[in-house]
Amino acid sequence: MKKGILIKVDKCGGCRECEAICSWVHGKGVVNPRRGMVAVVKKEREGFLMPFLCLQCEEPACKEVCPADAIQTDEETGALFVDSKSCIGCRLCMISCPFGAITFSPESRRVIKCDLCKDVADEPQCVKWCPKEALEYVDWEKVRLRPKESAVTAFVKKMGEG
Ligand code: SF4
Ligand code: SF4
Repeated sequence: MKKGILIKVDKCGGCRECEAICSWVHGKGVVNPRRGMVAVVKKEREGFLMPFLCLQCEEPACKEVCPADAIQTDEETGALFVDSKSCIGCRLCMISCPFGAITFSPESRRVIKCDLCKDVADEPQCVKWCPKEALEYVDWEKVRLRPKESAVTAFVKKMGEG
């Protein structure tokens, strides 16, 4: 069954533990949020705070533009993931992602993105370690059916106010 991470913007306290644990589990034990797949965006003057990560889109632009068929779908969770053996590092997926949820790794010369920790644990580790329960691992339908509370909607609204 396809799953996703529900972002509860109002609960986030901005501690960045999600960034740290993501880089730790995917970066072979090194904490470096720049190498993680979650990014907490803070705009203190505007009072804006929100964790960003891949929304596992229903019609993913990254997958459509990839010339190497390197964006694959995990059969169990429906997570979109990068097959690093097929990826040629062209970064077209980065350009196409409307949420900036794909990162280029200078070490591997390939892109990385959230895969819901499919090879790490039964649940995404950012969800597990968030002290505010601002991230929830749910059936994807629940993410889809709450568009008014979605992270993207909150972001667009906030940017419009700014
Ligand atoms: S760990 Fe939770 S509370 Fe802390 S920044 Fe990430 S989403 Fe927000
Ligand atoms: S960087 Fe890799 S995954 Fe992204 S579009 Fe290019 S080949 Fe596909």
